[in-house]
Amino acid sequence: MGYKKLEIKGLTLNAKELPILADVDVLIAGGGTAGAVAGIAAAREGARALVVERYGALGGSGSLAQVSPLMSLKIPDKPEPCSINGLIKRQMMKEGLAAVDQNGQDGWFNSAMLPFILDDLITSYGCDVLYDTTVIGAAMQDNELQGLVVQTRGGGKGLIRSRCVIDATGDALAAKLAGANCFEGRESDGANQSVSLRFTLGGIDLAQLQSFLSDIGQSWGLGLPLLETASIWGQSDTYPLERVFRQGMKNGLLHYEDGKFFQAFTIPGMGAAMTFNCPEIPDMKQALDPFKTSRAYVTGRKMTVRLHRFLKLMVPGFENSYFLSSGPMLGVRESRRVDAVFNLSVQDYLQCRKYDDGIAQTAYPIDIHGEEGVDYQEEDIPKGDFFEIPFRCLIPAGTGRLLVAGRCIGASFAAQSAARIQPVCRATGEAAGIGAAWLARKYKPSDDGKRSATAELIKGSDIRARMIAHGGIFLKR
Ligand SMILES: Cc1cc2nc3c(=O)[nH]c(=O)nc-3n(C[C@H](O)[C@H](O)[C@H](O)COP(=O)(O)OP(=O)(O)OC[C@H]3O[C@@H](n4cnc5c(N)ncnc54)[C@H](O)[C@@H]3O)c2cc1C
Repeated sequence: MGYKKLEIKGLTLNAKELPILADVDVLIAGGGTAGAVAGIAAAREGARALVVERYGALGGSGSLAQVSPLMSLKIPDKPEPCSINGLIKRQMMKEGLAAVDQNGQDGWFNSAMLPFILDDLITSYGCDVLYDTTVIGAAMQDNELQGLVVQTRGGGKGLIRSRCVIDATGDALAAKLAGANCFEGRESDGANQSVSLRFTLGGIDLAQLQSFLSDIGQSWGLGLPLLETASIWGQSDTYPLERVFRQGMKNGLLHYEDGKFFQAFTIPGMGAAMTFNCPEIPDMKQALDPFKTSRAYVTGRKMTVRLHRFLKLMVPGFENSYFLSSGPMLGVRESRRVDAVFNLSVQDYLQCRKYDDGIAQTAYPIDIHGEEGVDYQEEDIPKGDFFEIPFRCLIPAGTGRLLVAGRCIGASFAAQSAARIQPVCRATGEAAGIGAAWLARKYKPSDDGKRSATAELIKGSDIRARMIAHGGIFLKR
Protein backbone atom coordinates (compact mmCIF):
# COMPACT_ATOMS: atom_id res chain seq x y z
CA MET A 1 0.00 0.00 0.00
CA GLY A 2 2.45 2.64 -1.24
CA TYR A 3 1.82 6.39 -1.20
CA LYS A 4 1.88 8.05 -4.59
CA LYS A 5 3.05 11.50 -3.56
CA LEU A 6 4.19 11.34 0.02
CA GLU A 7 6.02 14.46 1.14
CA ILE A 8 7.96 14.61 4.41
CA LYS A 9 7.89 18.05 5.96
CA GLY A 10 9.78 19.30 8.97
CA LEU A 11 12.80 17.10 8.40
CA THR A 12 15.61 19.10 6.87
CA LEU A 13 18.67 17.04 7.51
CA ASN A 14 20.85 18.51 4.86
CA ALA A 15 24.20 18.24 6.61
CA LYS A 16 25.35 21.63 5.32
CA GLU A 17 22.31 23.39 6.79
CA LEU A 18 22.32 21.61 10.12
CA PRO A 19 23.25 24.05 12.90
CA ILE A 20 26.29 23.07 14.95
CA LEU A 21 25.06 23.15 18.52
CA ALA A 22 28.38 22.37 20.16
CA ASP A 23 31.90 21.20 19.43
CA VAL A 24 33.41 19.05 22.16
CA ASP A 25 36.14 16.52 22.83
CA VAL A 26 33.86 13.83 24.23
CA LEU A 27 30.14 13.51 23.55
CA ILE A 28 28.20 11.06 25.68
CA ALA A 29 24.90 9.76 24.30
CA GLY A 30 22.67 9.01 27.31
CA GLY A 31 23.10 10.32 30.84
CA GLY A 32 22.15 7.13 32.66
CA THR A 33 24.00 4.87 35.07
CA ALA A 34 27.07 4.62 32.84
CA GLY A 35 26.73 7.86 30.86
CA ALA A 36 26.69 10.23 33.82
CA VAL A 37 29.81 8.53 35.20
CA ALA A 38 31.46 8.64 31.76
CA GLY A 39 30.84 12.42 31.62
CA ILE A 40 32.43 12.92 35.02
CA ALA A 41 35.39 10.70 34.12
CA ALA A 42 36.04 12.42 30.77
CA ALA A 43 35.86 15.90 32.32
CA ARG A 44 38.13 14.78 35.15
CA GLU A 45 40.74 13.89 32.49
CA GLY A 46 40.52 17.47 31.20
CA ALA A 47 38.25 16.84 28.20
CA ARG A 48 35.48 19.22 27.13
CA ALA A 49 32.66 16.77 27.73
CA LEU A 50 28.93 16.96 27.02
CA VAL A 51 26.20 14.50 28.00
CA VAL A 52 23.04 14.39 25.89
CA GLU A 53 20.03 12.95 27.71
CA ARG A 54 16.52 12.45 26.29
CA TYR A 55 14.83 12.92 29.67
CA GLY A 56 15.21 15.71 32.24
CA ALA A 57 17.44 13.99 34.79
CA LEU A 58 20.65 12.01 35.03
CA GLY A 59 20.78 8.49 36.38
CA GLY A 60 18.79 6.58 33.74
CA SER A 61 17.62 3.24 35.05
CA GLY A 62 18.99 4.09 38.50
CA SER A 63 16.77 7.16 38.82
CA LEU A 64 14.03 7.26 36.20
CA ALA A 65 13.34 3.52 36.14
CA GLN A 66 13.69 3.54 39.97
CA VAL A 67 16.26 0.70 40.08
CA SER A 68 17.55 0.52 43.64
CA PRO A 69 19.60 -0.80 45.45
CA LEU A 70 22.88 -1.32 43.61
CA MET A 71 23.41 -5.06 43.43
CA SER A 72 26.49 -6.43 45.11
CA LEU A 73 29.54 -7.38 43.04
CA LYS A 74 29.58 -10.48 45.27
CA ILE A 75 33.32 -10.17 45.86
CA PRO A 76 33.74 -9.88 49.64
CA ASP A 77 37.06 -8.01 49.52
CA LYS A 78 36.25 -5.51 46.80
CA PRO A 79 34.69 -2.38 48.24
CA GLU A 80 34.35 -0.33 45.04
CA PRO A 81 33.77 -1.01 41.35
CA CYS A 82 35.43 2.33 40.48
CA SER A 83 36.40 5.64 42.06
CA ILE A 84 33.38 7.61 40.77
CA ASN A 85 31.02 5.06 42.29
CA GLY A 86 32.79 5.88 45.57
CA LEU A 87 32.24 9.62 45.01
CA ILE A 88 28.52 9.16 44.38
CA LYS A 89 28.15 6.78 47.31
CA ARG A 90 30.00 8.99 49.78
CA GLN A 91 27.98 12.05 48.78
CA MET A 92 24.73 10.14 49.14
CA MET A 93 25.82 8.69 52.50
CA LYS A 94 26.72 12.19 53.73
CA GLU A 95 23.22 13.37 52.95
CA GLY A 96 21.48 10.33 54.42
CA LEU A 97 20.47 9.07 50.96
CA ALA A 98 22.46 5.84 51.01
CA ALA A 99 23.11 3.20 53.65
CA VAL A 100 24.94 -0.01 54.49
CA ASP A 101 22.94 -2.95 55.81
CA GLN A 102 23.90 -5.40 58.54
CA ASN A 103 25.51 -7.75 56.00
CA GLY A 104 27.80 -4.98 54.76
CA GLN A 105 25.85 -4.48 51.51
CA ASP A 106 26.41 -0.79 50.77
CA GLY A 107 24.25 -0.49 47.66
CA TRP A 108 21.11 0.92 49.34
CA PHE A 109 20.34 4.33 47.87
CA ASN A 110 17.57 6.77 47.12
CA SER A 111 16.70 6.74 43.39
CA ALA A 112 14.62 9.92 43.55
CA MET A 113 17.57 11.93 44.87
CA LEU A 114 20.24 10.42 42.59
CA PRO A 115 19.73 13.10 39.86
CA PHE A 116 20.35 15.87 42.41
CA ILE A 117 23.64 14.30 43.48
CA LEU A 118 24.70 13.67 39.87
CA ASP A 119 23.84 17.25 38.82
CA ASP A 120 26.17 18.56 41.52
CA LEU A 121 28.97 16.12 40.77
CA ILE A 122 28.93 16.47 37.01
CA THR A 123 28.87 20.27 37.09
CA SER A 124 31.62 20.35 39.70
CA TYR A 125 33.85 18.51 37.20
CA GLY A 126 32.85 20.90 34.39
CA CYS A 127 30.92 18.47 32.22
CA ASP A 128 27.92 20.01 30.40
CA VAL A 129 24.54 18.33 30.07
CA LEU A 130 21.85 18.85 27.43
CA TYR A 131 18.53 17.60 28.80
CA ASP A 132 15.41 16.84 26.80
CA THR A 133 17.66 16.14 23.83
CA THR A 134 17.49 12.93 21.84
CA VAL A 135 20.18 11.41 19.66
CA ILE A 136 18.68 10.71 16.24
CA GLY A 137 21.62 10.34 13.89
CA ALA A 138 25.33 9.85 13.44
CA ALA A 139 27.38 12.34 11.44
CA MET A 140 29.89 10.46 9.31
CA GLN A 141 32.64 11.64 6.99
CA ASP A 142 34.68 9.15 4.99
CA ASN A 143 33.11 6.47 7.14
CA GLU A 144 34.45 8.10 10.30
CA LEU A 145 32.20 9.36 13.11
CA GLN A 146 32.30 13.16 13.47
CA GLY A 147 29.58 13.61 16.06
CA LEU A 148 25.86 13.03 16.58
CA VAL A 149 22.69 14.61 15.28
CA VAL A 150 20.22 15.46 18.02
CA GLN A 151 16.67 16.71 18.36
CA THR A 152 16.23 19.29 21.08
CA ARG A 153 13.16 20.60 22.90
CA GLY A 154 10.66 22.01 20.49
CA GLY A 155 11.80 19.78 17.65
CA GLY A 156 14.95 21.66 16.59
CA LYS A 157 17.70 19.53 15.12
CA GLY A 158 21.42 20.13 15.24
CA LEU A 159 24.84 18.59 15.04
CA ILE A 160 27.13 18.14 18.01
CA ARG A 161 30.66 17.72 16.75
CA SER A 162 32.92 15.57 18.83
CA ARG A 163 36.35 14.00 18.64
CA CYS A 164 35.10 10.91 20.39
CA VAL A 165 31.62 9.59 21.18
CA ILE A 166 30.56 7.32 24.03
CA ASP A 167 27.37 5.38 23.46
CA ALA A 168 25.72 5.02 26.87
CA THR A 169 22.13 4.79 25.62
CA GLY A 170 21.68 1.26 26.93
CA ASP A 171 20.32 0.41 23.49
CA ALA A 172 23.62 0.83 21.59
CA LEU A 173 21.71 3.37 19.52
CA ALA A 174 24.59 5.69 18.63
CA ALA A 175 26.74 2.71 17.66
CA LYS A 176 23.94 1.31 15.50
CA LEU A 177 23.43 4.70 13.81
CA ALA A 178 27.18 4.89 13.16
CA GLY A 179 27.02 1.55 11.38
CA ALA A 180 28.46 -0.72 14.07
CA ASN A 181 27.38 -4.34 13.99
CA CYS A 182 25.01 -5.08 16.89
CA PHE A 183 23.23 -8.02 18.50
CA GLU A 184 19.67 -8.00 19.82
CA GLY A 185 18.46 -10.40 22.51
CA ARG A 186 19.01 -14.12 22.84
CA GLU A 187 21.16 -15.65 20.10
CA SER A 188 18.59 -18.38 19.28
CA ASP A 189 15.55 -16.16 18.64
CA GLY A 190 16.29 -12.51 19.45
CA ALA A 191 14.08 -12.51 22.56
CA ASN A 192 15.14 -9.92 25.14
CA GLN A 193 15.03 -10.31 28.91
CA SER A 194 11.71 -9.40 30.55
CA VAL A 195 11.09 -5.72 31.18
CA SER A 196 9.59 -4.33 34.40
CA LEU A 197 7.84 -1.13 35.40
CA ARG A 198 8.95 -0.33 38.92
CA PHE A 199 6.89 1.66 41.43
CA THR A 200 7.17 3.28 44.86
CA LEU A 201 4.70 3.33 47.76
CA GLY A 202 4.65 5.57 50.83
CA GLY A 203 2.82 5.47 54.16
CA ILE A 204 3.98 1.95 55.08
CA ASP A 205 4.18 0.94 58.74
CA LEU A 206 7.61 -0.70 58.47
CA ALA A 207 7.71 -1.99 62.06
CA GLN A 208 4.39 -3.74 61.55
CA LEU A 209 5.53 -5.15 58.21
CA GLN A 210 8.76 -6.38 59.79
CA SER A 211 6.96 -8.22 62.55
CA PHE A 212 4.46 -9.74 60.07
CA LEU A 213 7.27 -10.99 57.80
CA SER A 214 9.06 -12.45 60.78
CA ASP A 215 5.83 -14.14 62.00
CA ILE A 216 5.28 -15.85 58.63
CA GLY A 217 8.86 -17.18 58.69
CA GLN A 218 10.98 -14.75 56.69
CA SER A 219 14.38 -14.90 58.31
CA TRP A 220 16.36 -12.52 56.11
CA GLY A 221 16.28 -8.83 55.20
CA LEU A 222 14.54 -7.72 58.36
CA GLY A 223 17.14 -5.25 59.69
CA LEU A 224 15.05 -2.09 59.93
CA PRO A 225 15.26 0.54 58.54
CA LEU A 226 16.74 -1.49 55.65
CA LEU A 227 13.94 -3.95 55.13
CA GLU A 228 13.41 -6.16 52.12
CA THR A 229 11.03 -8.88 51.06
CA ALA A 230 10.20 -10.90 47.97
CA SER A 231 7.96 -13.61 46.55
CA ILE A 232 8.35 -16.06 43.68
CA TRP A 233 5.72 -18.71 42.92
CA GLY A 234 6.65 -22.11 44.29
CA GLN A 235 9.50 -20.84 46.47
CA SER A 236 7.73 -20.35 49.80
CA ASP A 237 10.63 -21.91 51.74
CA THR A 238 12.86 -18.97 50.83
CA TYR A 239 10.05 -16.45 50.38
CA PRO A 240 7.27 -17.19 52.92
CA LEU A 241 5.34 -14.20 51.55
CA GLU A 242 4.55 -16.47 48.59
CA ARG A 243 1.83 -18.16 50.70
CA VAL A 244 0.12 -14.80 51.16
CA PHE A 245 0.40 -14.19 47.41
CA ARG A 246 -1.29 -17.56 46.80
CA GLN A 247 -4.12 -16.53 49.10
CA GLY A 248 -4.32 -13.21 47.22
CA MET A 249 -4.83 -15.15 43.99
CA LYS A 250 -7.54 -17.29 45.60
CA ASN A 251 -9.26 -14.11 46.80
CA GLY A 252 -9.28 -12.78 43.26
CA LEU A 253 -7.00 -9.86 44.06
CA LEU A 254 -4.05 -11.01 41.95
CA HIS A 255 -3.49 -12.55 38.55
CA TYR A 256 -0.88 -15.29 38.19
CA GLU A 257 1.63 -12.99 36.45
CA ASP A 258 1.45 -10.45 39.31
CA GLY A 259 3.20 -12.92 41.61
CA LYS A 260 5.79 -14.36 39.24
CA PHE A 261 8.48 -12.04 40.57
CA PHE A 262 7.87 -9.63 43.44
CA GLN A 263 10.58 -7.77 45.36
CA ALA A 264 10.54 -4.71 47.62
CA PHE A 265 13.17 -2.62 49.43
CA THR A 266 13.04 0.34 51.79
CA ILE A 267 14.70 3.57 50.63
CA PRO A 268 17.36 5.49 52.59
CA GLY A 269 16.08 8.97 53.43
CA MET A 270 12.46 8.13 52.62
CA GLY A 271 11.09 6.87 55.93
CA ALA A 272 7.95 4.84 55.39
CA ALA A 273 8.43 4.16 51.68
CA MET A 274 9.42 1.09 49.65
CA THR A 275 10.58 0.66 46.05
CA PHE A 276 9.28 -2.39 44.16
CA ASN A 277 11.35 -4.33 41.63
CA CYS A 278 8.19 -5.30 39.76
CA PRO A 279 5.78 -5.84 38.09
CA GLU A 280 7.57 -7.89 35.48
CA ILE A 281 5.56 -7.57 32.28
CA PRO A 282 4.35 -10.98 31.02
CA ASP A 283 5.23 -12.14 27.50
CA MET A 284 7.17 -9.00 26.77
CA LYS A 285 10.48 -10.00 25.22
CA GLN A 286 10.85 -7.27 22.59
CA ALA A 287 12.45 -4.35 24.39
CA LEU A 288 12.94 -2.33 21.18
CA ASP A 289 9.41 -2.71 19.77
CA PRO A 290 7.67 0.68 20.14
CA PHE A 291 4.11 -0.67 20.37
CA LYS A 292 4.98 -3.54 22.70
CA THR A 293 6.99 -1.31 25.04
CA SER A 294 4.14 1.21 25.04
CA ARG A 295 1.68 -1.53 25.99
CA ALA A 296 4.13 -2.64 28.69
CA TYR A 297 3.64 0.69 30.47
CA VAL A 298 -0.15 0.23 30.41
CA THR A 299 0.02 -3.40 31.52
CA GLY A 300 2.58 -2.53 34.20
CA ARG A 301 0.40 0.22 35.64
CA LYS A 302 -2.63 -2.14 35.76
CA MET A 303 -0.52 -4.76 37.53
CA THR A 304 0.73 -2.10 39.95
CA VAL A 305 -2.85 -1.20 40.90
CA ARG A 306 -3.63 -4.88 41.61
CA LEU A 307 -0.42 -5.36 43.62
CA HIS A 308 -1.06 -2.28 45.71
CA ARG A 309 -4.66 -3.32 46.45
CA PHE A 310 -3.48 -6.78 47.45
CA LEU A 311 -0.78 -5.35 49.74
CA LYS A 312 -3.25 -2.94 51.39
CA LEU A 313 -5.78 -5.68 52.05
CA MET A 314 -3.59 -8.66 52.87
CA VAL A 315 -0.16 -7.57 54.12
CA PRO A 316 -0.06 -5.89 57.55
CA GLY A 317 1.87 -2.62 57.44
CA PHE A 318 0.43 -1.58 54.06
CA GLU A 319 -3.10 -0.65 55.28
CA ASN A 320 -2.51 3.10 55.02
CA SER A 321 0.04 3.00 52.23
CA TYR A 322 -0.36 5.24 49.21
CA PHE A 323 0.95 5.30 45.70
CA LEU A 324 3.94 7.63 45.24
CA SER A 325 5.23 7.03 41.71
CA SER A 326 5.70 4.60 38.88
CA GLY A 327 8.90 4.69 36.81
CA PRO A 328 8.57 7.29 34.05
CA MET A 329 11.06 5.08 32.22
CA LEU A 330 10.47 1.38 31.53
CA GLY A 331 12.97 -0.92 33.22
CA VAL A 332 14.85 -2.57 30.34
CA ARG A 333 17.42 -5.14 31.36
CA GLU A 334 18.80 -5.87 27.91
CA SER A 335 17.97 -4.79 24.38
CA ARG A 336 20.81 -4.25 21.89
CA ARG A 337 24.54 -4.89 22.39
CA VAL A 338 27.49 -4.00 20.20
CA ASP A 339 29.68 -6.51 18.46
CA ALA A 340 32.91 -5.41 20.11
CA VAL A 341 36.60 -6.11 19.58
CA PHE A 342 36.06 -8.63 22.42
CA ASN A 343 32.64 -10.02 23.34
CA LEU A 344 32.25 -11.29 26.89
CA SER A 345 31.11 -14.93 27.08
CA VAL A 346 29.62 -17.22 29.72
CA GLN A 347 33.01 -18.95 29.86
CA ASP A 348 34.57 -15.68 31.08
CA TYR A 349 32.20 -15.86 34.03
CA LEU A 350 32.41 -19.61 34.66
CA GLN A 351 36.20 -19.73 34.40
CA CYS A 352 36.73 -16.44 36.27
CA ARG A 353 38.92 -15.12 33.47
CA LYS A 354 41.07 -12.06 34.10
CA TYR A 355 42.62 -9.76 31.53
CA ASP A 356 45.42 -7.17 31.40
CA ASP A 357 42.84 -4.64 30.26
CA GLY A 358 40.21 -5.74 32.81
CA ILE A 359 38.39 -2.53 33.81
CA ALA A 360 35.61 -4.09 35.90
CA GLN A 361 35.72 -6.99 38.33
CA THR A 362 32.57 -8.80 39.40
CA ALA A 363 31.22 -12.13 40.56
CA TYR A 364 27.55 -11.27 40.02
CA PRO A 365 26.01 -14.37 38.46
CA ILE A 366 24.20 -14.98 35.17
CA ASP A 367 20.75 -13.56 35.95
CA ILE A 368 18.25 -13.77 33.09
CA HIS A 369 14.77 -12.56 33.93
CA GLY A 370 11.87 -14.23 32.21
CA GLU A 371 13.78 -17.24 30.97
CA GLU A 372 12.80 -20.61 32.40
CA GLY A 373 15.37 -23.24 33.24
CA VAL A 374 18.47 -21.07 33.43
CA ASP A 375 20.81 -23.15 35.47
CA TYR A 376 23.77 -20.91 36.23
CA GLN A 377 24.12 -20.17 39.92
CA GLU A 378 26.33 -18.13 42.20
CA GLU A 379 27.86 -21.41 43.32
CA ASP A 380 29.20 -21.98 39.80
CA ILE A 381 32.31 -19.99 40.63
CA PRO A 382 34.49 -20.37 43.73
CA LYS A 383 33.57 -18.02 46.57
CA GLY A 384 35.85 -14.99 46.58
CA ASP A 385 36.83 -15.41 42.94
CA PHE A 386 35.60 -13.12 40.16
CA PHE A 387 35.82 -12.40 36.45
CA GLU A 388 36.94 -9.28 34.63
CA ILE A 389 35.47 -7.27 31.79
CA PRO A 390 38.18 -6.24 29.35
CA PHE A 391 38.28 -2.69 27.96
CA ARG A 392 38.00 -4.27 24.49
CA CYS A 393 34.29 -4.98 25.23
CA LEU A 394 33.83 -1.19 25.07
CA ILE A 395 35.26 -0.83 21.54
CA PRO A 396 32.76 -1.60 18.76
CA ALA A 397 34.55 -3.67 16.13
CA GLY A 398 35.48 -1.87 12.94
CA THR A 399 34.66 1.62 14.16
CA GLY A 400 36.77 4.62 15.17
CA ARG A 401 36.24 7.39 17.69
CA LEU A 402 33.47 5.44 19.35
CA LEU A 403 33.25 3.62 22.69
CA VAL A 404 30.28 2.08 24.50
CA ALA A 405 29.49 1.87 28.20
CA GLY A 406 26.79 0.30 30.34
CA ARG A 407 24.53 -2.60 29.55
CA CYS A 408 25.13 -2.46 25.77
CA ILE A 409 28.83 -3.41 25.80
CA GLY A 410 30.04 -6.37 23.74
CA ALA A 411 28.76 -9.55 25.39
CA SER A 412 26.69 -12.62 24.62
CA PHE A 413 23.05 -12.53 25.78
CA ALA A 414 23.80 -14.64 28.87
CA ALA A 415 27.12 -12.97 29.73
CA GLN A 416 25.47 -9.52 29.55
CA SER A 417 23.11 -10.64 32.32
CA ALA A 418 26.12 -11.03 34.64
CA ALA A 419 27.61 -7.68 33.62
CA ARG A 420 24.57 -5.39 33.64
CA ILE A 421 24.31 -4.42 37.32
CA GLN A 422 24.77 -0.75 38.12
CA PRO A 423 28.18 -0.95 39.83
CA VAL A 424 29.61 -2.68 36.75
CA CYS A 425 27.89 -0.19 34.40
CA ARG A 426 29.49 2.61 36.40
CA ALA A 427 32.94 1.00 36.05
CA THR A 428 32.50 0.71 32.29
CA GLY A 429 31.37 4.37 32.27
CA GLU A 430 34.50 5.47 34.10
CA ALA A 431 36.74 3.44 31.79
CA ALA A 432 34.99 4.78 28.67
CA GLY A 433 35.24 8.36 29.96
CA ILE A 434 38.98 8.06 30.49
CA GLY A 435 39.47 6.26 27.19
CA ALA A 436 37.44 8.80 25.20
CA ALA A 437 39.29 11.75 26.75
CA TRP A 438 42.60 10.16 25.77
CA LEU A 439 41.37 9.27 22.29
CA ALA A 440 40.16 12.83 21.74
CA ARG A 441 43.63 14.09 22.58
CA LYS A 442 45.37 11.58 20.33
CA TYR A 443 43.01 11.97 17.43
CA LYS A 444 44.38 13.84 14.44
CA PRO A 445 42.00 14.60 11.58
CA SER A 446 43.27 12.49 8.71
CA ASP A 447 43.06 13.90 5.20
CA ASP A 448 42.65 10.54 3.59
CA GLY A 449 39.95 9.42 6.01
CA LYS A 450 42.10 6.51 7.17
CA ARG A 451 40.94 5.45 10.55
CA SER A 452 43.33 4.47 13.32
CA ALA A 453 42.06 1.54 15.34
CA THR A 454 41.07 2.59 18.85
CA ALA A 455 42.97 -0.30 20.36
CA GLU A 456 46.15 0.97 18.68
CA LEU A 457 45.73 4.48 20.08
CA ILE A 458 45.03 3.62 23.71
CA LYS A 459 45.81 0.62 25.85
CA GLY A 460 43.15 -0.87 28.09
CA SER A 461 45.82 -1.76 30.65
CA ASP A 462 46.71 1.96 30.91
CA ILE A 463 43.06 2.78 31.51
CA ARG A 464 42.90 0.21 34.27
CA ALA A 465 46.05 1.77 35.79
CA ARG A 466 44.44 5.21 35.57
CA MET A 467 41.30 3.93 37.31
CA ILE A 468 43.52 2.63 40.10
CA ALA A 469 45.41 5.95 40.27
CA HIS A 470 42.05 7.69 40.76
CA GLY A 471 41.38 5.48 43.79
CA GLY A 472 39.64 2.52 42.19
CA ILE A 473 40.35 -0.69 44.07
CA PHE A 474 41.18 -3.66 41.85
CA LEU A 475 41.93 -7.02 43.38
CA LYS A 476 45.10 -8.82 42.37
CA ARG A 477 44.53 -11.63 39.91
C1 LIG B 1 13.78 -3.76 36.32
C2 LIG B 1 15.26 -3.77 36.52
C3 LIG B 1 15.77 -4.12 37.75
C4 LIG B 1 17.14 -4.09 37.96
N1 LIG B 1 17.62 -4.37 39.21
C5 LIG B 1 18.89 -4.03 39.49
C6 LIG B 1 19.30 -3.96 40.84
O1 LIG B 1 18.54 -4.25 41.76
N2 LIG B 1 20.57 -3.52 41.09
C7 LIG B 1 21.45 -3.21 40.09
O2 LIG B 1 22.59 -2.84 40.39
N3 LIG B 1 21.07 -3.29 38.80
C8 LIG B 1 19.80 -3.65 38.48
N4 LIG B 1 19.38 -3.63 37.19
C9 LIG B 1 20.35 -3.38 36.09
C10 LIG B 1 20.75 -1.93 35.94
O3 LIG B 1 19.81 -1.06 36.49
C11 LIG B 1 20.95 -1.53 34.47
O4 LIG B 1 21.54 -2.55 33.73
C12 LIG B 1 21.85 -0.32 34.38
O5 LIG B 1 21.30 0.71 35.17
C13 LIG B 1 21.96 0.13 32.93
O6 LIG B 1 22.78 1.28 32.88
P1 LIG B 1 23.06 2.00 31.49
O7 LIG B 1 23.82 3.22 31.79
O8 LIG B 1 23.60 1.03 30.53
O9 LIG B 1 21.61 2.39 30.96
P2 LIG B 1 20.58 3.40 31.61
O10 LIG B 1 20.87 3.65 33.04
O11 LIG B 1 19.24 2.87 31.27
O12 LIG B 1 20.88 4.74 30.83
C14 LIG B 1 20.62 4.94 29.46
C15 LIG B 1 20.33 6.43 29.30
O13 LIG B 1 20.36 6.77 27.93
C16 LIG B 1 19.28 7.63 27.65
N5 LIG B 1 18.98 7.51 26.23
C17 LIG B 1 18.58 6.42 25.56
N6 LIG B 1 18.41 6.70 24.25
C18 LIG B 1 18.73 8.00 24.10
C19 LIG B 1 18.78 8.86 22.98
N7 LIG B 1 18.42 8.45 21.76
N8 LIG B 1 19.15 10.14 23.17
C20 LIG B 1 19.48 10.59 24.40
N9 LIG B 1 19.46 9.81 25.51
C21 LIG B 1 19.10 8.52 25.35
C22 LIG B 1 18.18 7.12 28.56
O14 LIG B 1 17.16 8.08 28.75
C23 LIG B 1 18.95 6.80 29.83
O15 LIG B 1 19.05 7.90 30.70
C24 LIG B 1 18.02 -3.70 36.92
C25 LIG B 1 17.50 -3.34 35.67
C26 LIG B 1 16.14 -3.35 35.48
C27 LIG B 1 15.60 -2.89 34.17
